[in-house]
Amino acid sequence: MSMSYDPNKLTWNETHTINEEHQYCYCGEDRNLTEVSVQCCQCLNWFHAKCIKASIDKTIPIFTNYRFICKFCNELEGENFKRSQAGWKEIGGCAIANLMLQQHMADHQALKGDSRYLSKNYKKLPPFNYYFNKNDHLRPFVDKNWSSLCTERSRTATWWATLGSCLYSTKDLFVAKDEHCRSASSNFCLVDPNLWNIRPGHFGTSHSRNQSRLHKESTKNNTRTVNESETQDDSSQSIVHASSSKRQITPLPSTEQGMTPPAPPMQSNPKNTVIALIEANSSNTEFGQSGEQNNLRHGFKYLPCQSDVFFPYMQYRNSELPPYGVRLSKEDASLSVWISGDQLTTTTEYGFSMARANCPVKEGNWFYEVFIDRGGEGKIDGKDGAHVRVGWARREGNRNSSVGSDAYSYGFRDLTGHKVHQSRLSRYGEPFKTGDVIGLYISLPPLNKGVPDYKPKCPKRHRIPILFKGDTIFEYKDFKPTNKMNDLLELPEKKKTKNFWWQQKQEEAKNSSTQPPPIIPKLPGSKIIVYKNGVCQGVAFEDLYSFFPMVDERTNEENLTEDDGSLGYYPAVSMFRGGTCTLNFGPYFRYPPQPDPEAERYMEYIAEDVLYDIIDEIELWDWMISKKKRPRPATDVSDSEIIKKIKLDDTDEGTPNIQ
Ligand SMILES: [Zn+2]
Ligand SMILES: [Zn+2]
Repeated sequence: MSMSYDPNKLTWNETHTINEEHQYCYCGEDRNLTEVSVQCCQCLNWFHAKCIKASIDKTIPIFTNYRFICKFCNELEGENFKRSQAGWKEIGGCAIANLMLQQHMADHQALKGDSRYLSKNYKKLPPFNYYFNKNDHLRPFVDKNWSSLCTERSRTATWWATLGSCLYSTKDLFVAKDEHCRSASSNFCLVDPNLWNIRPGHFGTSHSRNQSRLHKESTKNNTRTVNESETQDDSSQSIVHASSSKRQITPLPSTEQGMTPPAPPMQSNPKNTVIALIEANSSNTEFGQSGEQNNLRHGFKYLPCQSDVFFPYMQYRNSELPPYGVRLSKEDASLSVWISGDQLTTTTEYGFSMARANCPVKEGNWFYEVFIDRGGEGKIDGKDGAHVRVGWARREGNRNSSVGSDAYSYGFRDLTGHKVHQSRLSRYGEPFKTGDVIGLYISLPPLNKGVPDYKPKCPKRHRIPILFKGDTIFEYKDFKPTNKMNDLLELPEKKKTKNFWWQQKQEEAKNSSTQPPPIIPKLPGSKIIVYKNGVCQGVAFEDLYSFFPMVDERTNEENLTEDDGSLGYYPAVSMFRGGTCTLNFGPYFRYPPQPDPEAERYMEYIAEDVLYDIIDEIELWDWMISKKKRPRPATDVSDSEIIKKIKLDDTDEGTPNIQ
């Protein structure tokens, strides 16, 4: 087979999307913006959809979520075209690009294939200057072209909100018409409105696993790009790190805006984004966002599980994913939180968002440390800097808020050293900032003392294995915040300045108000102490609220009322706009706490959740056993007894309850 031209003698533009000869494909014809053509990920040449064998959905001319190899680059197996799941930046970017093209065609009454959209006429094409709104334009467009734009992405109930936040936060790709008061509902245009620059990877990609930084050698003549990974790259669009194929990845900000940026000057503060952090950590840590499944249904939680032949009744068991041990939980974090590969470092580019450890504490004394990688910043250029709030939170605590924002958590504020509970600040300790190490100590009474009628029992688990994007995950009922606890936020001194999601409920409850504040059970003798760089700041909170679910007249029957193993206080951190911290769960602490050496036994406790699940991850057991410093207290039941007991329990009612 031969070509009508020599593809090695073409002069390409910097983005390798246009050549001066205007020859492309097997056929040597020009490209037209309004007609689908795809780029080969090896030779980077472009091929008309009509000239390749694979049938390509041509409903929208511009898309980047694919991988194509031309037949010259894959002589053995022939050409190959495959769509991949698009990330939100890609979805937003391509949607806007297509809308821009549509608008321009409509304005000029141009038809598909019009010669003004040929690459040889690209210089005569003025930059498109159209702005599109999420609700009026993007949402209907993406909705209509979901499969072409998103490929395989499941349509969550709030996908358009995610798209909105993505447009709002991705300042290197999207410019708002009202940039000075940019919001998710602004009208957006592409920072680079030259649609001829769009190619796979242009908006960041989400489909490849281990992309490595690519090096473009030359842009003239023989323009083979050194390309070891799945997508092509160039100097104006650099890298993406994926920590898992399931997670979102983000391109790093462009170091050079290769093409004409006609947009208003961008006030981008690269240091203020998570991206800078990812770059800084890219050598050894890959960051990933929390799982999309976290928000499938309100009032439920989702954990990974796997089919297991050794559990014929349960059929599925929880699958603990590495890294094993105490760490931050991706399954229990705000969607806007980023968590490092070792699941100890976390950050966000948005407002306060919370991440919690993967196991709670219920009784005894516990300690963990937080290294403030970035936090306690004052205003920078009139904008809020990066912040971190640390503390302890319960499962019901709002993940999309700061630690201490509700009655379910106790937190500490970096800038002032205030303690925060129920959104109320009180004077407490010294402020802390980048570089400080905050120690968080909690002491909880023995359960039989704190909760007189508490009988440790094996929790009943109501869970259903469901399929989510090809993975099996367990859906569990989760504990929901109760009215009584939310009412606490409505006490007189509380200023109603923010629109919390529970306000509506508060309004409802308010009608029956003029009641004394609700009585919430407490854990007598419990306390939280904070250390800053080893210096005790004193007792911050005492008699913490009991973490057992309250059953009152307003409790919905559907609510969970017994411990499923997830009740208790969790180490919790919340970050704000680039605030970053790293958690240390021991056994070696930078500043070990003095008052209670027992706190070092923290590690022993992590077995609990695992025990409940009868996980037989040998690695995990070995790891835990090796970490144990002393035998469990004599009062404890031995591991094997618990296992036996739970096993019976599970097999009794173990058949998955598929509804
Ligand atoms: Zn062709
Ligand atoms: Zn090729």
